Amino acid sequence: MYKIAATDLMKKIMGDYFLSLESGTKKIAWCTSVGPAELLRSFGFEVYFPENHGALLGATRTAMDYIPEAIKCGYSGHVCSYTTADIGAFLKKQSPLQSHYKMQGIPKPDLIAYNTNQCREVEDWFTFYADQFKCPIVGIQPPRYLDEVSSDEVELVVKQFKKMIPVCEQVSGNKFDIDRFREVVKLSKEATLLWQKVLKTSTAAIAPLSFFDGTIHMGPIVVLRGTQLAKDYYTTLLNELESNVKNKTGFLPKASTRIFWEGMPIWGKLRMFSDLFNQNNAAVVASTYCSSWVFDRFDENNPFESTALAYTEIFINRSEKAKMKMLKAWFEEYKIDGIVYHDSKTCFNNSNAKFGMPQRLKEETGVPALIIEGDLCDLRFFSEGQSVTKIETFVEQLQDLKVNHG
Ligand code: SF4
Repeated sequence: MYKIAATDLMKKIMGDYFLSLESGTKKIAWCTSVGPAELLRSFGFEVYFPENHGALLGATRTAMDYIPEAIKCGYSGHVCSYTTADIGAFLKKQSPLQSHYKMQGIPKPDLIAYNTNQCREVEDWFTFYADQFKCPIVGIQPPRYLDEVSSDEVELVVKQFKKMIPVCEQVSGNKFDIDRFREVVKLSKEATLLWQKVLKTSTAAIAPLSFFDGTIHMGPIVVLRGTQLAKDYYTTLLNELESNVKNKTGFLPKASTRIFWEGMPIWGKLRMFSDLFNQNNAAVVASTYCSSWVFDRFDENNPFESTALAYTEIFINRSEKAKMKMLKAWFEEYKIDGIVYHDSKTCFNNSNAKFGMPQRLKEETGVPALIIEGDLCDLRFFSEGQSVTKIETFVEQLQDLKVNHG
């Protein structure tokens, strides 16, 4: 059975990271997953990412135990289930970090930072905690839905980044150091480019990394970018995957179709989906989700402008036109036969099947599309039976198309 050997190392790195959060040696900054982590790290903060915790609540299928607690406090069950699960778990004083890593719970923040480049929900979510912990909070609000990101928008975001500096100085007790910032951006860039290469190994005919593997191996690029550890980890993983490509080893050597996954993962059902696609000979080789942590614009010579640009031009923050352009390029690069959209009930922002884009993209590219309904954490919005039938039928159609049209 195909196994990525680096997985054990990744688990160790993630375990050490979580434990470092309660070592008490560093101040803790909370940050959104595509927030200004490099700037925070340059002040010496250890950075904690509540969305990663939300994903853990989803993957351990405990989210549904907690969402009702947040609903009781006035949060709608139809808003971001990372938010509601995370707030609910906090209110119940529970966390998978306790059972998995023997931690006391989530780390207490000294500073909270968010970036609405992904959604406005993070502002509400993080503000809840700023109120609870009586802790300073800083927000970045870049322009959204742009076809192209121009220097005007970058300038605006740079100004917002720079406004964070006095708060970071005060909370961390450290003066801003541009050289340290450059170093962190450089490390972050190196790790993110390695992550990009890791993902691109699956352009090979026998792909070594599935979307489902990617959701696991992306841990360090989310929580440890800007550190040597992340860079070293992706060097190891890349070496392994490149050698698998050379040896024609992959997760589904006889795949008959290649699928692109669009939208959020359904965290509590990753294994089920992975098995389902594999059993149907369909290799899910690429996704928008895993590509969200490729920041190839980072440049240590221009640390403010380049990070402002990279964080503003991410897929989720763009217009439909820009998104379609990116998807078309991925379709070609990964030789995609079909795309599966996850229309997530509680994440409007990362669901692209609501305004007709699947139809328009199909017309332009000829790549067939399937939409499945579900949710990132709240499995009450997911019907397994219905989704399995839809996917099996879709894959069969793709295979017929290939046989009949070559
Ligand atoms: S992008 Fe979606 S899943 Fe992520 S925090 Fe925003 S609403 Fe939640």
